[in-house]
Amino acid sequence: MSFTSLGLRAELLRAIADQGYSEPTPVQKRAIPLILEGRDVLAGAQTGTGKTAGFTLPILQLLGTEYEKKGWRPIRVLILTPTRELAAQVKESVSTYGRHMPIRTAAIFGGVGFHPQTATLKRGVDILVATPGRLQDHIDQRTVELDKVQILVLDEADRMLDMGFLPAIRKILNVLPKQRQNLLFSATYSSEIRELASGILRNPETIQVDRSSSPADSVTHKVHPVDRERKRELLMHLIESNNWRQVLVFTAKKHGAERLAQQLDRAGLGAAAIHGNKSQNQRTRALAAFKSGEVRVLVGTDVASRGLDIEHLPHVVNYELPNEPEAYIHRIGRTGRAGKKGEAVSLVAPEERGLLNQIEQLLKAKIERVIVPGFEPDPNAPRREPEPRQARKHGGGKRNNGHGNPQRQHDNSNPRPHWHRHADRKTEGGNSRRGRPSA
Ligand code: AMP
Repeated sequence: MSFTSLGLRAELLRAIADQGYSEPTPVQKRAIPLILEGRDVLAGAQTGTGKTAGFTLPILQLLGTEYEKKGWRPIRVLILTPTRELAAQVKESVSTYGRHMPIRTAAIFGGVGFHPQTATLKRGVDILVATPGRLQDHIDQRTVELDKVQILVLDEADRMLDMGFLPAIRKILNVLPKQRQNLLFSATYSSEIRELASGILRNPETIQVDRSSSPADSVTHKVHPVDRERKRELLMHLIESNNWRQVLVFTAKKHGAERLAQQLDRAGLGAAAIHGNKSQNQRTRALAAFKSGEVRVLVGTDVASRGLDIEHLPHVVNYELPNEPEAYIHRIGRTGRAGKKGEAVSLVAPEERGLLNQIEQLLKAKIERVIVPGFEPDPNAPRREPEPRQARKHGGGKRNNGHGNPQRQHDNSNPRPHWHRHADRKTEGGNSRRGRPSA
């Protein structure tokens, strides 16, 4: 099947050819015709499948006939994303695929000035990409009008719920016209996602391009067992001995990301950090330096790295395993994109074995263990197993995640498997003053 047979207009076909895409990916083949028909769609598709073009191309086609108008234009498409980076990247995709059409697009997210966004909105935007928190601010300040929205996209909806954005999403839904087309994309299906979908989507078509919990097949996984205190040395050894040129490294905490990036940089490896304590400008600069090859290693935390779209990123390293097994899938979704081969390597200390088991349960597969000669874990080291996660979650019935999100406080009875639930984890980018994440 070709893009031409999907019935896309010439301007879009030109933009697709500019990108060098020869044929639509599976999610594009399924989603594009349905969206063009005006159907609501519930799509189980993770990053790396080409989902962004899967919704952007048909949306541009649907808007196409009305774009001639001069002057102010109402927002006709609203795309919600969990993070600033993903919002910026989706906006880039809209601009890329819409480059031969005079479509106006903008991204609004937290961490940058409010007033320039207001000015952009005033000039008129056809397609608005936004994170829920900042959009809610604009709704509260009456600096955005959403009463002409015809199409709503929830991108990476699972992550938006994880980040406590449900109240903001509800508020946004309240100001949208009832009659509209709805598209919901999610890498994973939880009962919360199903509930959200059933409240928003009308008679949706369901698309599933990968098993909901399976990472892209083009990624090979490997675990290197190693003692915690030797991880940095092992990481440097792997980068140097394999001559990795572009490596994305995940740490559990912001300060850990910062420290590791500094240490690698001092060792001459060229590293930068990307996490929630960095300003938006610093994050954008770090990402640009990494994409251009100026920086060889980008060290980040889960939230900051969500949605990073880097062409052909070959190596992802889990310096520390994530606390939620599903985050593993999101992390490795950064590599092996759109048919390219990728490698995901996890440095696993003895005390992380519990987390590794949970990840393997979710993947329904065992990940190959490869001991790197010279970095064998010390068999006599005291083994400290992690605190059982169940106990932490149910302890005392206090579930407030600090974002004032009542949904989170009620789900002790949630029947989902334990890896779907979230401990009282500090959400990066959280803004306790406002009681919700700031992205
Ligand atoms: P996404 O899943 O939307 O994050 O897209 C992942 C990557 O796939 C992006 O780098 C896109 O540029 C690329 N991509 C999207 N559609 C295609 C296609 N039909 N052929 C090749 N690459 C594509």
